Amino acid sequence: MLPFYGMNNRSITDVLQQYWGYTEFRPLQEEIIQTLLSGKDVFAILPTAAGKSLCYQVPALLFAGVTIVVSPLIALIEDQVRQLTAKAIPVGYLHSGMDKVTASNTMDILLSGGYKLFYVSPERLQSELFLEQTASLKIDFLAIDEAHCISQWGHDFRPSYRAINEFKQLYPDIVTLALTASATSIVKKDIVEQLALKAPKIFERSVIRPNLSYHVRYEEAKVPELAHLCSENKGSSIVYCGTRRKTTEAAGELSQLLDTRVFSYHAGLHRKEKDFAYREWSAGEHAIICATSAFGMGIDKADVRTVYHLDLPTSIEQYYQEVGRAGRDQAPARGILFFNQGDLNRLSRLPDLQYPPLEIIYMVYEKLMNYLQVGIGEGAGWVKAFDLVHFTNKFTLPVLETISAIRILEQEGFLIWSEDARTKYIVRLTTTRTHLEYLEKNYKSLYAVLEVLLRHYGSVYHFDTAIQIFELSKELGIDKTMFEDRLFRLQDMGILEYTPAIIGSFMVLQEKRLELAYLNINKQALHMRKAAFIAKIQALIAYIEDGVHCRNLLLSQYFGQGADIAPCGKCDNCLKRSVTGASGSIEAQLMMLLKEQKQLPVTEVIKAFAQYPRHHVLKLLQELVNARKIFLKGDVISL
Ligand SMILES: [Zn+2]
Repeated sequence: MLPFYGMNNRSITDVLQQYWGYTEFRPLQEEIIQTLLSGKDVFAILPTAAGKSLCYQVPALLFAGVTIVVSPLIALIEDQVRQLTAKAIPVGYLHSGMDKVTASNTMDILLSGGYKLFYVSPERLQSELFLEQTASLKIDFLAIDEAHCISQWGHDFRPSYRAINEFKQLYPDIVTLALTASATSIVKKDIVEQLALKAPKIFERSVIRPNLSYHVRYEEAKVPELAHLCSENKGSSIVYCGTRRKTTEAAGELSQLLDTRVFSYHAGLHRKEKDFAYREWSAGEHAIICATSAFGMGIDKADVRTVYHLDLPTSIEQYYQEVGRAGRDQAPARGILFFNQGDLNRLSRLPDLQYPPLEIIYMVYEKLMNYLQVGIGEGAGWVKAFDLVHFTNKFTLPVLETISAIRILEQEGFLIWSEDARTKYIVRLTTTRTHLEYLEKNYKSLYAVLEVLLRHYGSVYHFDTAIQIFELSKELGIDKTMFEDRLFRLQDMGILEYTPAIIGSFMVLQEKRLELAYLNINKQALHMRKAAFIAKIQALIAYIEDGVHCRNLLLSQYFGQGADIAPCGKCDNCLKRSVTGASGSIEAQLMMLLKEQKQLPVTEVIKAFAQYPRHHVLKLLQELVNARKIFLKGDVISL
């Protein structure tokens, strides 16, 4: 790729202007890039929308060799590759959702020096073939996106990230950049250790976004209240929902209540439906989209005014990340989190659902292997389409526990479960011409399939070859299913190898199938991760139930950035304080009220404090009764 010779002599601002058209960097970007170019490792904690990707894309064009970028999400990789390709930057990628023909073509280009930037999913780094092939390449710089995935203490642990360190050992001089949007102190420490960063320079932006305000609301009937808020607050919004079904239900109810179109988005939709929903929502000025947490990566709509949570996230990290999609244009924006007692109860039950008993994990493993048609001793490296709904229906399995069991098998390194595969139909002949003559005489319809294959694809004799299955079947005057049936029959006869295409959700088997007696699940590690998960949930509940402190302060403390924070004056807790005055705790107000009224039924007290979560008020009453500051007779309260 000739255009890049001599780039070393250019300034980073030249590169920024030539390829991105900007004249200035955002805060910290320039310092990060300069540090990397001076050969030092960097650990950067930058909130969403701070322009993380530029921190490795610009230096990638200035380092002499290839830059490797590790990223966990296929959708994100593809999105970035699209954007960079549009800027004429030579960029390639490799992930597990690719067929072998595409993967091998990509490797050829990489090895011949055709890419300056190369994105890989972490498990690809584990592949010995990849390591062997890239050994001859000059790789100067390694960027790790979503670096928190390496930590068991983080909210999104992916064991394949552990392979990064092995890869690094092959390149002792490689400069490393670890990036994450947010991390607690313990996760930060873990990232530096696990990635073996060498005296890294740490850049950390405050988690506080001055234009964002956070609100937590107790609500039994959430959707009507949501509709009310949507009609009051103009501008676009995202409504995060806990399940796929809920996104469609909420979108339906909202569009009725608001008499406008509301989109829904989740990972189970077809790519076209997803693209459509995103495009329409993105273009709208007052557009609403109900989505699962799958909606987030690659959103570049800057004018989102409100992010609602109809269901609770499972950690403050997740909440912070999702709410951070509001107000990227720096204009005022809000996050509104709804909850009620039912949500809190569900959240407390979650650890047991996410970490089901071992028997369930073993059972899911067994059924899953049967479902994917993997025999004992086979399957290592196989890539298989996987439809969760079909699987759970077929074996009448509980959905939530099944998902959890699969995630645990993933964390134990047995498999990888991912979305967004788009592989091709691949065929390779494994037989001789004499064999074919026999076929011609005895199996006319099967032979016709071979004939059409050979006519279009000469390479099919010796190489894995991607075929256009719809066109071939049309040519034979049969439908695709019948064509595929015949390919499978030819495969059974040992004449060819056929790999069907996979679109959407898929699994990569990392290990061969084991007999259950040999399936070893690390109970201690499981126990530890469950404890970490419980701690995260407790921290979230504490955040929700805190009715006093400024939300910015709570977030800053959670992310280990200290307590030296001026109250924002805009979050629910700050607003409460300003309404009730400096000494205006609920308790003080209640005592004043009782002094005036002498006595009041509990229901009246709740009405008088309707702006506070009902369970807060009840809890306070209980505490005051216990402390004998007030008295309860029947359902009447008195001093
Ligand atoms: Zn505040």
